[in-house]
Formats: sequence, structure tokens, C-alpha cells
Amino acid sequence: MHSFNPEQAIWQTRREFGEHGGVTPSIERSATFTVMEPGTMPEIFQGVRGPDKGGCFLYSRHFNPTVDVLDRYLAAMEGTESAVSTASGMSAIACALLQVCKGGDHIVASDTVYGGAHALLGELLPEMDINVTFVDPSDTLAFEAAITPYTKVIYTETVGNPTLKVADIPALSALTHRHNLTLIVDNTFTPMIMSPAQLGADIVVYSMTKFINGASDLLAGAICASREFIYQLMDLCNGRVMLLGPTMDPRVAFDLIQRIPHLAIRMREHSRRAMIIADRLHEIGAPVCYPGLRSHPQYDLHTSMMNDGYGYGGILTLDCKTKVKAEELMTTLQNEEKFGLIAVSLGYFDTLMSCSGSSTASEIAPCDQEKIGISPGLLRISVGITGDLEIRVEQIIRAVHKVGLVGQR
Ligand SMILES: *Cc1c(COP(=O)(O)O)cnc(C)c1O
Repeated sequence: MHSFNPEQAIWQTRREFGEHGGVTPSIERSATFTVMEPGTMPEIFQGVRGPDKGGCFLYSRHFNPTVDVLDRYLAAMEGTESAVSTASGMSAIACALLQVCKGGDHIVASDTVYGGAHALLGELLPEMDINVTFVDPSDTLAFEAAITPYTKVIYTETVGNPTLKVADIPALSALTHRHNLTLIVDNTFTPMIMSPAQLGADIVVYSMTKFINGASDLLAGAICASREFIYQLMDLCNGRVMLLGPTMDPRVAFDLIQRIPHLAIRMREHSRRAMIIADRLHEIGAPVCYPGLRSHPQYDLHTSMMNDGYGYGGILTLDCKTKVKAEELMTTLQNEEKFGLIAVSLGYFDTLMSCSGSSTASEIAPCDQEKIGISPGLLRISVGITGDLEIRVEQIIRAVHKVGLVGQR
């Protein structure tokens, strides 16, 4: 297994005090900042004196002290030089791609990505003459075969949504750098479990709306990368985060700062419960997919990339074949068993269930869905960390029997 320890990486280097020595960071809500010497102002605008260079803060769309605290935690967690938080996962993805690519450029992307990212890559970016070829994320050679003289970026999710196909990040990194490209990895499903930058990714993006926050009460995103790339994003004249403006609010940053300390505990518990539920479903012959099952096609690859001690993640799928069957199962699980909630999103402390084909992947055309392995009855379950685990197992086993997903007992 991989030796990086994201939890230790955060806490051995970071001690973030609040004003007056508070044990929590302070929330700096100011939009603008007082410059003590007028001469400092032009120097800040020229980029020669920011808060990290003996100058001061300028304006909170640029840098903000509270958001900076969160950014330092994220950079430490990923082992990157720097990071910037954004208002949503989509803005993190869009700004990272738009910073690297301009009109005429080309991207090779996984065909198994979050529906919004798929729409951005397949519809919106081509309108700006940034063209995209989609390939199977578990087929490294397909990425290489799709590279053209105009290619700038290889884009994938570590564990693809919702098919749970695993991308070989070290192999993609090797081919990316052989061709002088940039590897961007969305690690939303597997914070702490995987550290893509340690495996060779250049840029790691997150929707922090999911596991990193864990409470489904805010939207947030992040870009973790080299200091140089983060400065490019924040450049006053052409930085995509600075000028498109998906700025994180310092109050949101504070909420996230308070949840990073128990992210490792939560991830371990999501993984532990998902593993036990997947095992039991597999035992009774249910059509379950989970990267921690030996029956998963990339079990060995996932095992070789993951950090020690965080398990295989909190997401599993059940292929109910038809939408009607998936809906029947979700209804039973929610309304009779009280097993979880029918809702999109993931990484919440309660279990969330959705039928991907008609919800979060509905931006992908039905024929393409079939091609990439999203059956109309694919039920994605984000396993929560609440309730008695044995009772949870009984609930889901009873429900899959009731709807006839496995033979009657
Ligand atoms: C939810 C999600 C996103 C989008 O994030 P938002 O915070 O909703 O903008 C991107 N990638 C993945 C894998 C996601 O699950």
C-alpha cells in the first residue's frame, strides 16, 4: 500500500490559532483590508507584496485569512504546495480546466465522470472550441491513443461516478508527462483514501460538498496544485478563480475547517460500513459493485493506490436492471426500512440513495450511458455512518429480498 499519511500530514505541520490565541481560527469577514502605507497598494496589485510576502490582504475575492487557513489544511492533506477553495466543486473543475486550456486545445477525459463535469466537457467547453475525447477510465492505453497534437489535459476521477471504475493514476501520470500534458484528477469520492498528487497527478480537484464537509449543508470545492498554478488561478489580470469569481465565503471556510479534524474518522467509518454491507450483499448473490470486493475488476489496482487504513470508500452500487426495480428498492429502503434517504449527492452522515441514470448522470445521453456501463436501474448508495450497523445490514438484506433482487428466502 501507499505510504502517504494525509491525516498526519495535516496535523504535524498545522497549528492555526484564532485571534487572541483562540483554539479555533477566527472568521475574518471583511471584504476589504486597510493598507497602512499607501505605497503598499500598487505593490500588491503588481503581485510583489501579498500577505505571504510581507504585504497585507487586499480584497476577499483575492485572498482571505480564514479561507487561507482551509487552503493550507487542504494542501497539507494532499501533499501539494498550495490549494485554493472555491464556491462549488463545479467551479473548481471549470476554473482548473479553463486555466490550462484555451480555444483550439483538446482534452482527453474519462467517460465516467460526474454528470455536471460530463456536460461541461461534452457541451460547454466545445462551444468555446475546447474539444474533448471521452475514453474508458480503466483503459490507460485508450487515453494515450486519443492524444492529438492539440491535447493539453488528461482528466479523470480517481473512482468514477457512478460505475466505480478505478483509474490507474500512476500509469496516467507517466503517459501525461511523456506527452508534456497536465493530469487533473477529481478525488471527490476518495479524500484521504487516495492522494492523487502523491500518485503523480498535477492538479487535484474536489467537490467539498460531499465527504470533506460531510453534513450536506453547504457547497464548496477546491483545487490543490503547485504554488505556481494556484498563483496563476489567483492572478489579478487573468486568473480564472480571481476573474470568474467563484470565491469561497469565509463563514463557509470556517465550517469546513471545523470538519476537517474528523474527516479521517468519518472516512474510515464510511468504508468499514460499506465494506460489511457490500460483503453481505455479495454473499447472498445481490448484484453489488464495490471496489473493496475481490470481484471488483480493479480491486488490485485500488488496493495498490490507496493510503493505509482508510478502506475502500463509502460508495457502492446495486444494479437493479430497470428503473422501476431501482425505485421500488429505494422506496422500500426509505419508507419501510428507514435505511436511508432518496436524494442525490453523497458523503452525508446519513445514507443517500439515487438512481444515477435518471438523476446525477442524466446529462449523459441514454445510449452513452449504456456504453459506459450505467444501466437504467443502477442504484448508487452513499453508505452513511449513523445507526446500528447490524440493523442496517438486516434492513438492506430484507429489502433486496422483498423486491426480488435475489432469490426468495
Ligand atoms: C458533486 C460532484 C461534483 C460537483 O460538485 P458541486 O460541489 O456540486 O459543484 C464534481 N465531481 C464529483 C465526483 C461530484 O460527486
